[in-house]
Amino acid sequence: MTTPIRQRLAECAAKARTCEVSGCHLPRQHFGKWCEAHDRRAQETGHPLGRTIRRREFEPFVKGARRYLDRHQDHPRIAKALSWLEALVYASGAAPAEITRKSTAHDRLLTWLVKLRRQEVSPVEMLAIAIGICAYREWSPQVFRSDRHFNHQLAIRVLRLARAERITTMHRGCHEYRRHDRITSGVRDLLSEALNRHVGVVALSVARKLVAKVNASNPVPTALTMILAGTASLASGQGAGTNEGKPTNE
Ligand SMILES: [Zn+2]
Repeated sequence: MTTPIRQRLAECAAKARTCEVSGCHLPRQHFGKWCEAHDRRAQETGHPLGRTIRRREFEPFVKGARRYLDRHQDHPRIAKALSWLEALVYASGAAPAEITRKSTAHDRLLTWLVKLRRQEVSPVEMLAIAIGICAYREWSPQVFRSDRHFNHQLAIRVLRLARAERITTMHRGCHEYRRHDRITSGVRDLLSEALNRHVGVVALSVARKLVAKVNASNPVPTALTMILAGTASLASGQGAGTNEGKPTNE
């Protein structure tokens, strides 16, 4: 009635190799550092505890970036970044004939760029997204778990400027659906590395300006400013200046 020794040995070995995420005691995948769930999350977001950052979370910064770019398009560093993005989308050549499981990150990225080209996505819009997400990271650093998480989300948000294409199928009658192609990890690495190299510095410097502007117009409330403004809630006994300003986004 005892458990076969082989099975017990296998169980002990699995326990010894637990997921690297702290607090997670699940066995690791055969290859890699994480359990199945954390590995999948890392594949999807760029970090085992990361999440997908939605455009609407940092939309105010995208709007600010667009206004800024509108006024400063001729600034040499901005003009250079825009012309690099223009070349990336509009001069990168024809899409590969087909994407298969064996396609390289290069071919997959090219397919995405052609999609942006077909939809006439502008370099200004792409740069506004890059600036917007940089500003969001300056504003709420804790939202991004690591550089890699940030880089992957940057690439995803830029490529998702291409709307999902409508596909019509005749399977069991006529249906129309939107095809959401996956942006693979290799594509995100390839694109984010190039974006950081060619537009990263200018995006970050504009992002910091936008964040500084927001901070200047909405200073962090102190006990004194709240009392002066009459917003301190004395009756509830809640001390002013408690650290509950920023949402954690968790
Ligand atoms: Zn895990």
